[in-house]
Amino acid sequence: MSDTPHKVVALTGASSGIGEATARLLAAAGMKVVVGARRTERLEALVAEIRAAGGEAEFKVLDVTHRDDVEAFIAFAESRFGRVDVLVNNAGVMPLSPLAALKTDEWDRMIDVNVRGVLNGVAAALPRFQAQGGGHFVNVASVAAHQVYPTCAVYSATKYAVWAITDGIRQEHPDIRATIISPGVVESELAETITDPTTAAAINAARAVALKADVIARAIRYAIEQPAEVGVNEIIVRPMGGAF
Ligand code: NDP
Repeated sequence: MSDTPHKVVALTGASSGIGEATARLLAAAGMKVVVGARRTERLEALVAEIRAAGGEAEFKVLDVTHRDDVEAFIAFAESRFGRVDVLVNNAGVMPLSPLAALKTDEWDRMIDVNVRGVLNGVAAALPRFQAQGGGHFVNVASVAAHQVYPTCAVYSATKYAVWAITDGIRQEHPDIRATIISPGVVESELAETITDPTTAAAINAARAVALKADVIARAIRYAIEQPAEVGVNEIIVRPMGGAF
C-alpha cells in the first residue's frame, strides 16, 4: 500500500449521499479519488468542486451491474493515477416493500446492484490487489446486514451478502484489507427508490433522526488511514437513540 495521503481510491455510487461525501472528504485529506455512478452531471460537478479546492479527482460513468463497466472503471483509475489502493463498493439501492407486494423486479434490482455490483468490484480489483501485494476493499453494507426488519427482507438479504463477501475476502487474503461499513439511517437519496407508499411513509418517519453522510465518510477515512498492519473489519454507525 502506498502512504495514506497519496492513496488512490475508487468509489462507486459517488454521485450522491455517502459516496459523494466520502469522495469529498478523502480528496480533502490528499487522496486521489476516482468517482463513478450513472449520473454524469453529478460526477462532473463533484470532480470540478474537488479540483477547485485543490484536490485530485477523476470520474467515469459506470453501472455496477455491468461487469465490463466496473472493469473499465478500475482500469481507468489505474491509468490516471498508476494504481488503485482502495475500492469503496458503495453503490446501492433500497426499494423496500413487504414480501407479499411481490415487487419481484425490485428484488432483482437490489440483488443486481447491491450484490452483483459488489462482486463485480471484487472481480475487477482483486487480481490487481494480489499483483501489487496489497489493497483495501471498503464495502458499504448496513445495520440491515445484522438484523431483518419488516419490508426489509430482500434488502437485508443483499446486505448480509455484502457482509459475507467482505469477511470472505478477509479470511482468504491476509494481505488485502477488507472493511465492512454498516450505517444506520443517513441523509441521502436512498429512500427515493421506495415505490410502496405505506413503506415509504414509515421509512421517511424513521429517517427523521438520520445522520449526515459526512459521518459515514469519516468512518471510511478512519479505516483507510490506519497503518498497514491494522485491519478495521467493520464499523457500525447509528444515530444515538435511533432504532436503525
Ligand atoms: P444514495 O441513493 O444517495 O446513493 C446511492 C448511489 O449509488 C448513487 O450515487 C447512485 O448513483 C449509485 N447507484 C445506484 N445504482 C447504481 C448502479 N447501477 N451503478 C452505479 N451506481 C449506482 O444513497 P446512500 O448514499 O445512502 O447509499 C450509499 C450506500 O449506503 C448504499 O449501498 C446503501 O445501501 C448504503 N446505506 C445507506 C443508508 C442510509 O440510511 N442512507 C443506511 C445503510 C446503508 P446513480 O443513480 O448516479 O447511478
